[in-house]
Amino acid sequence: MPEDDPDERTADVAVIGGGPAGLSAAVYTARADQETLVFDDGGGTTRDVDRMENVYGFPDGITGPELVARGREQAAKFGAEFVPEEVVRLSTTDGETYAVETTERTYAVRGVVLATGASYESPAIADVERFEGRGVSYCVECDAYFYRDSPVAVVGAGNYAAREALMLLDYTDDVVLLTNGDDLVADPDLVDRLDEADIPVRMDRLDTLVGDETLDGVETGDGERITVDGLFVALGAAGGTDLAEMLGVPTANRAVETDAEMGTPVPRVYAAGDVTGGQRQINTSVGEGTRAAINLLEDLRDTADYVDYRKIDTDASDAPADD
Ligand SMILES: Cc1cc2nc3c(=O)[nH]c(=O)nc-3n(C[C@H](O)[C@H](O)[C@H](O)COP(=O)(O)OP(=O)(O)OC[C@H]3O[C@@H](n4cnc5c(N)ncnc54)[C@H](O)[C@@H]3O)c2cc1C
Repeated sequence: MPEDDPDERTADVAVIGGGPAGLSAAVYTARADQETLVFDDGGGTTRDVDRMENVYGFPDGITGPELVARGREQAAKFGAEFVPEEVVRLSTTDGETYAVETTERTYAVRGVVLATGASYESPAIADVERFEGRGVSYCVECDAYFYRDSPVAVVGAGNYAAREALMLLDYTDDVVLLTNGDDLVADPDLVDRLDEADIPVRMDRLDTLVGDETLDGVETGDGERITVDGLFVALGAAGGTDLAEMLGVPTANRAVETDAEMGTPVPRVYAAGDVTGGQRQINTSVGEGTRAAINLLEDLRDTADYVDYRKIDTDASDAPADD
């Protein structure tokens, strides 16, 4: 970081992404007195989710936007600063500081948490977007519960789709796998399990979704209607891995590769949440953000002894009893 560049802003930590993974990381780093910038270009999956019933601590469910708003409030309370800019480049010249370049300016930081999420691929079927949240889902783990004992379909033609179809059997016996014109290319054991479970695999091209307020079915190119209440899209997710690759962080299957501590081979660069692949859930994203932050803090202090209660003596409002 050149000292004489008046336009360059410095901080201890850059958290890139303002979803649950990034915000949970920011709560920890900011609360441990590390100057924390949270870069958030206003997108992300969480903001798109209507209702979630499996987020820890919310027995009545919570919407994605509310969850983000609460996380932002909590991170801000401990001093995290939000930067509403898109990060376009990450680089380092000395391996000590990292340059975070946004569309507006450059920031120099000592540690990075990559929490850029993932975007889910959508099939080219008419009206998919209209039925998102009204029958179309991108996550069996999240939404299958709403389709117990109902007819459902999975759209996809790979291992991921096969696994999602098999997972649906926990909720309903009426499952069909729709490859949308492609061959099913899945591991033989998964194909066997589909077979054993009597899950039909249909290769028809899909044309349009039908229904009024909610999904009633999907129509094939031949005009046949397959009646389903739920359509689970299992085409995979495109992770926000570009920034990681700029730093030489390894990626695989469109996800950032981390070790068990959410670390990467690049010093003080961690990743958390959907961008790391895996189970892609709010609770796991929060857990990974926490783990990334705690380990980054250890790096920054150059000690394995993590203590984050230093503020309690100086600010009574931070005491755990008040949280
Ligand atoms: C339809 C649907 C329903 C779901 N339902 C559930 C559910 O019921 N329960 C559950 O646990 N999970 C559910 N999920 C999964 C859950 O939403 C994700 O696991 C979670 O959102 C991941 O959080 P994250 O912080 O990793 O990423 P995100 O929430 O996607 O956040 C990524 C952040 O990075 C920012 N960003 C990305 N690139 C840049 C950049 N270059 N510069 C600046 N900012 C950037 C974005 O703006 C955003 O703030 C669902 C997902 C979908 C799609």
